[in-house]
Amino acid sequence: MAQKTVVTVVCDLPHDGEAEGNETVSFAFDGASYEIDVCTAHAKDLHDTFAAYAERARRVMEELRRRLADPARPVDERDYLERLMKRD
Ligand SMILES: [Zn+2]
Repeated sequence: MAQKTVVTVVCDLPHDGEAEGNETVSFAFDGASYEIDVCTAHAKDLHDTFAAYAERARRVMEELRRRLADPARPVDERDYLERLMKRD
């Protein structure tokens, strides 16, 4: 006899009953990384909400590269940034 296991992903956000999770959304906030399984409606809600912040936020690596390339920055800061960027 063959067995078939079906894995159903459900939306992690509140619903009346269960809603199918169609998308896994990853994000990082305050230094911690997260993943959440969400339905289509909640995925759209998350994308719309984060987009409002992301478009106004500094992109960290771009900012670090800009500072690293700025000769007016103190040598100590540029040394620190260089070590920081080599870590990942
Ligand atoms: Zn949902």
